[in-house]
Amino acid sequence: MKTSSLLLATTRETPADAVVISHQLMLRAGLIRPLAGGLYTWLPLGVRVLRKVEAIVREEMNRSGAQELLMPVVQPLELWEESGRAEDYGPELLRFKDRHQRDFALGPTHEEIITDLVRKEIRSYKQLPANFYQIQTKFRDEIRPRFGVMRSREFIMKDAYSFHMDRDSLQTTYDEMYDAYNRIFSRIGLDFRPVQADTGSIGGDGSHEFHVLADSGEDDIAFSTESDFAANVELAEALEPRGERPAPSEDLTKVATPGKHSIEEVCDFLQVKKKKVLKTLIVKGATDENPVVALVVRGDHELNEIKAEKLDLVAEPLEMASDAEILDAVGCNAGSIGPVGLNIPVIVDRTADHAVDFICGANEDGFHYTGANWDRNANPTLVADIRNVVKGDPSPCGKGKIEIRRGIEVGHIFQLGNKYSKALNATVLNENSRAQVLEMGCYGIGVTRVVAAAIEQNHDDKGIIWPEAIAPFQVCIVPMQMHKSPRVAEAANKLYDELTAKGIEVLFDDRSERPGVMFNDMELIGIPHRIVIGERGLDNGMIEYKHRTDEKAQDIAEAEFMDFLL
Ligand code: ATP
Ligand code: MG
Ligand code: MG
Ligand code: MG
Repeated sequence: MKTSSLLLATTRETPADAVVISHQLMLRAGLIRPLAGGLYTWLPLGVRVLRKVEAIVREEMNRSGAQELLMPVVQPLELWEESGRAEDYGPELLRFKDRHQRDFALGPTHEEIITDLVRKEIRSYKQLPANFYQIQTKFRDEIRPRFGVMRSREFIMKDAYSFHMDRDSLQTTYDEMYDAYNRIFSRIGLDFRPVQADTGSIGGDGSHEFHVLADSGEDDIAFSTESDFAANVELAEALEPRGERPAPSEDLTKVATPGKHSIEEVCDFLQVKKKKVLKTLIVKGATDENPVVALVVRGDHELNEIKAEKLDLVAEPLEMASDAEILDAVGCNAGSIGPVGLNIPVIVDRTADHAVDFICGANEDGFHYTGANWDRNANPTLVADIRNVVKGDPSPCGKGKIEIRRGIEVGHIFQLGNKYSKALNATVLNENSRAQVLEMGCYGIGVTRVVAAAIEQNHDDKGIIWPEAIAPFQVCIVPMQMHKSPRVAEAANKLYDELTAKGIEVLFDDRSERPGVMFNDMELIGIPHRIVIGERGLDNGMIEYKHRTDEKAQDIAEAEFMDFLL
């Protein structure tokens, strides 16, 4: 492409309201323009980058066996009422009415829509497992859109949803997605970490986030210097335990005895903060000989303000109850069998119509977590032990020391269990021709956010330094005084044609600007390879080459240039 036919909208000034470097550079390099709060137009140069990211995501999703589809941005609110999220999701869900006064919302995520599709289209276990994905616009009415496309209101997400007959199959696909995400972010050229994570308002059991390490990130990531251990610190903070584990004590009996106890007593005993505790407690397995107690706390950050006065602590012995009865009583999904099955006593919110996020418990031996999520693969101790970690602490995994860095969440994978399939009654016939509720996973990547995150990690004082895989053009040709020198014009055009014919994306700067202006622009927009064609070089049979990260340009003999570059 020639700059004369490209909207090259570079600017010299740093926009005052752009505080992070990626936002500044995306505006200055002419990748995006603001329309209104949290809404951006992607300019042609920006779209090229975006499409590169999308292509990598699409290739790896296809390779994993997922099928691409495309769902509407506009969603009937009815489905959100059916799943129970119309109320839970809060003001990030932008609602409106159509001309017939029917309620709709702009999709912030698509669990309800895909579950509705699957309950209508998939009839038999033979069609499963299946994983569907789309790359599509999302809208979240973020309370504080900021950092440009990093936290915008409208953004592009790759979201995938998998459906299964059982949790083993879900685990298999989850692991495949985990691998696919590692391939995607590696291919893009990012320095990233997969971390154990909270499930937020999407709900469910197991979850990992993928974080790009950058100082402007909004999350704290704790990881080991010598192993794969990594977790989002906010996850551990959700429990906010205070102090050491208590030794087995008299208190245990007191708390565990069925009956009414003050919420302070239980919180004190379990060392969790009151505001995190859900309303109702059920004690499983509490007997005089074997006193046990536990309680569920929510890690949902939007529920930080759980009203303390609403807490109503009613401990009931359920020692005769089966796991199934308990699950039924508390409305939890099968994921909760994990801790119950492990024989760790639990207290759960029986009024909740969704799976609980956090669970902790105690028995005669003292205080235990069962972990911050119910991912069967996650080691609960590791999760729990990263609370209050500081840099240099020994890693809870036993290897290396704790390093804490800021991270930008670019991807998030969840094991949802049957949260949505149960609410929407998405069943298929199993081998015995019985209707069975599906297990489900979901997997997101913030495609537009990835572009900003890549810039956060790859820039200098001159501008963006694109990782090769997502550069808008791989090569730029900057001819010197082309409009005065037919010889330079001819040589530059010839090289342009040759490179283009080889499938290389070349930006040919055919403007009649001063060399300094052209160099500055090419550096600002971050093209990895720069070629300069000038009279002097041609006289000596040389072509000037500079990589975006090189200090100085070098001269390469014309005859060897193609071999050198390719
Ligand atoms: P965050 O914690 O940053 O608010 P999230 O946990 O709410 O993100 P998810 O529901 O996990 O987001 O959505 C999947 C992915 O979509 C995120 O990992 C992120 O990359 C991207 N994403 C979420 N919100 C935004 C936004 N407002 N702007 C751009 N990308 C976003
Ligand atoms: Mg969010
Ligand atoms: Mg998040
Ligand atoms: Mg997330």
